[in-house]
Amino acid sequence: MLARLEWRAGAAIIQTAFKSERLPNTTELTATLTDSVKYLRGVGPHRAAVLEEHGIATVGDLLSYLPFRYEDRIRFTPIAEIVPGQVHTILAEVTGGGGSTVRFRRGRGALFHLSVRDKTGTVYVRFFHGGYLQGKLKDGQRLVLHGKVEADPYRPARVEMVNPQMEIVSDGEGQPADSTEMGRIVPVYEAMGGISSRMLRRIVYGVLLHFDGNMPDPLPPEIRERFRFPTRREALAYAHFPPKDENLEMLNSFRSPAQVRLIFEEFFYYQLALTLRRQRENHRAGIAMRVREERVREALKRILPFKPTEAQKRVLKEIADDLEKPYPMHRLLEGDVGSGKTIVALEAATIAIENRCQVALMAPTEILAAQHYLSAKRIFAPAGYFVELITGGRTKAERELAALRVQAGQAQFVVGTHALIEGSVKFEKLGLVIVDEQHRFGVLQRKRLIEKGASPHVLVMTATPIPRTLALTLYGDLDISVIDELPPGRTPIETRWAADTQLAGVWEFLRRQIARGRQAYVVYPVIEESKQELKAATAEYERLAKSVFPKLRAGLLHGRLKNDEKEAVMEQFRSGELHVLVATTVIEVGVDVPNATVMVIEHADRFGLAQLHQLRGRIGRGSEQSHCILIAPRTITGEARERIETMVATSNGFEIAERDLKQRGPGEFFGTRQHGDAAFSFAQPLRDREILEMARREAFALAENAEKAREVASRLEMVNPSWQRRYQLASVG
Ligand code: ADP
Ligand code: MG
Repeated sequence: MLARLEWRAGAAIIQTAFKSERLPNTTELTATLTDSVKYLRGVGPHRAAVLEEHGIATVGDLLSYLPFRYEDRIRFTPIAEIVPGQVHTILAEVTGGGGSTVRFRRGRGALFHLSVRDKTGTVYVRFFHGGYLQGKLKDGQRLVLHGKVEADPYRPARVEMVNPQMEIVSDGEGQPADSTEMGRIVPVYEAMGGISSRMLRRIVYGVLLHFDGNMPDPLPPEIRERFRFPTRREALAYAHFPPKDENLEMLNSFRSPAQVRLIFEEFFYYQLALTLRRQRENHRAGIAMRVREERVREALKRILPFKPTEAQKRVLKEIADDLEKPYPMHRLLEGDVGSGKTIVALEAATIAIENRCQVALMAPTEILAAQHYLSAKRIFAPAGYFVELITGGRTKAERELAALRVQAGQAQFVVGTHALIEGSVKFEKLGLVIVDEQHRFGVLQRKRLIEKGASPHVLVMTATPIPRTLALTLYGDLDISVIDELPPGRTPIETRWAADTQLAGVWEFLRRQIARGRQAYVVYPVIEESKQELKAATAEYERLAKSVFPKLRAGLLHGRLKNDEKEAVMEQFRSGELHVLVATTVIEVGVDVPNATVMVIEHADRFGLAQLHQLRGRIGRGSEQSHCILIAPRTITGEARERIETMVATSNGFEIAERDLKQRGPGEFFGTRQHGDAAFSFAQPLRDREILEMARREAFALAENAEKAREVASRLEMVNPSWQRRYQLASVG
C-alpha cells in the first residue's frame, strides 16, 4: 500500500500538464473556491440550478466532483485490431456506409442503428431506447465510443457495440475537438440532469485553468508528509486531468496518489467527526436505567413464546448493560433476516418501560409498523402497558388522539412509520428510540426522532449484514451487536431457478404445498402493466385467482392500496384465511408469517441481490421445509445470471452482502444514495477498505489529543462547509 502511495513529483507534473494549454476564447478571470458556480464559463442559470440540486453550489464543490472513470484518448484501438468480447475505446466517424446512417424503429422501444468507421474498418452500433438520438448525428461527425465490442452472432466478420458510451467530439465540419477531450487521458464524469460528462469536463477544465491557486490543505502536514501525499490542490488538478503518462489502470482502480489522498481525506474527516462526537456523547448525561435481573427475566418468560437463542441472550445483555449507564446508548443491532431481532427490541423496550420511560419504534413501511404494533400489543397489553400506532395512513382524528395519548405519557410503547417524526408527535419522556431496518431511513429522519427525547438511548437494527470490520469503521460512533445464529429448528430454504415455460409445474407444486396446509407468496416487480412488458401484480392476481387457483383463496397486496386495505389483507394472510398472497416488494422488509413456506418470484432477474435475499427471508421462518422458486429466462447472462446463481447457491446473508457490494457498490447498498445524505462523495468503503483502515488509525491517534483534534476538524470548514455539515450528521444512530 505504502509503496503505491509514493508521490512522484506531483506538482511538476501538474504544472506541465497545464502550462501550455489555454481554452479558446477564455477571459482571464480567476476563480476562487467560494465562488458560486453560477458565474462560471459554460454554466448558465439553468445548469447552475441543476448543479445546485446535486449539491454543487461553489467552485469548491465542483472540484470535489471527481470523474468515475478515465479514458485513454491518446491511443484508440484501430477497428481492425478489435478483439471481440473485450472493452475498447475507438475513435470513428459517422458514415453512410452505403445506406442510410440512421434507422429508427418504432414499437418495442426505439432502436437506433448507426455505423461508424475509421481508416481500418467499420463497427455497427445499436442503441436500445435510443429514440433521443434521432436527428442528433450527422455523416462525418467524429465519435468516441467506449464499451464492449462483440462479433455479430449471425455475421461473425462484423463487429458491433450495443449501448456503448458515446461522445461527439467534433461537428463534422472540420472543427477540431478541443484539448479537453482528445490526445490525453480524459476524465469521464457521471452526467447530471442534462449536463453531460463532456460539458462537465469543459467547465472543470476552465475552472482549473483560472483557479487562483488558493486552496488550503486541511490535512495535518505530518500526516501528509508521512504518506507523501500531494497537496490538496495538486491532487484535485491531477484527479480531474491526469498527465498523459499516468497509468490508466491505476487511475481506473482509484489508486493513483492523487485519488488515494482524496479518498483518505474523506475517510479521515469522517472518522475524526465520529470520534469527536463519541467523546462528547460520553460526557452527555443520559437516562441511567435500573435493570432488575429477576423482574426482567420474569417479564421475558411471560412475553416469550419460545426460548431465546444464545445470541439473543448475549445481545440483550449488551443492550441492558448500556441502558444502565449514565450516558445514552448508541447501538447497532445486526442480524440476518429471520434471526429474531424484533424480540430483542421488545425486550429492551420492556426494560425502558419498567423504568417509566416511553419507547418509540420506527419502521420503514406501514405493513411492518402494523405488524410490530400487533406483536407489541400482544406482549404489552397483558402487562397493562398501552401500545400506540402512528402512521400516515390513519385518519386525522385518529392521529390527533394518538398524539395526545403519547404526549400525556399514556402510551408507553409507540410504533410508527416516519409519521412519528412529524412535529405534532411529542413525548412525555422518551427514553429509548428503536429504528428497525435503519438503512431505509435517512440520517435526518433518524436524528429527528432521537431529538424528540432528551438524550434517549438509541438502538438501530439492520438486516443488512455488513462485514463486522467494515461496520465498525463506518459506524465508528456506534457499538455493534450481532445476532449470528438463527432460532433453532429452521430448515434451510430450498431455492430453485425455473423458466417461464415451467410455470404450470410451479403452480401445481404450489397447490400441493397448500393442500398440506402451507401458504405461499407470489411476487411481481410492478403493480400495473406498463411498457416494460413485465407481468404486473394486479393483472396476474386476477388471472391466478380466476384460472390458476380457482379453488384457493388469494389476496393482493401492493403499495398503492389504502392502509386499512393493506392491513386487512395482511391480517387475512397471517390468520391463514388466504392461501396465496400476490404481492409486490412491499413485503420485502420484516413481514413475518411462519406458516408461509413457498415463495415464487417472477422476473427474478429484475431484482437486486439484497432485495432477493430480503424477499426470500419472508419464508423459512418455521420448522417446515420452505421453497423459493425464482422465475427467470434460462438465457440471461452477466450480472443477472450471477445474481440468480448466487441465490440458488447460498442463503448466507454475509456471503450475499459481499457479492452484492461487489456488483453495486456500497452507495446503494447502504441505502444512502436515495436520501441524498451519503457520507462520502468519492470514497467507497468497500472498494477502499485499506485506505479506510488507514484513515481510521490516523484519526484515532489524532483524537487522543482532543484539543489538536478539534483544531484539525475545524479546518474542514475552510475547505468545504457542506462536507462539514455532512460529517456532523454522519451515521447518527
Ligand atoms: P428479523 O431479525 O428478521 O427481524 P424476526 O424478529 O421477525 O426476525 O423473527 C423471525 C421469526 O423468528 C419470528 O417468527 C419470531 O417469532 C421467531 N423467533 C425469534 N426468536 C426466536 C427463538 N429464540 N426461537 C424460536 N423462534 C424465534
Ligand atoms: Mg425484522
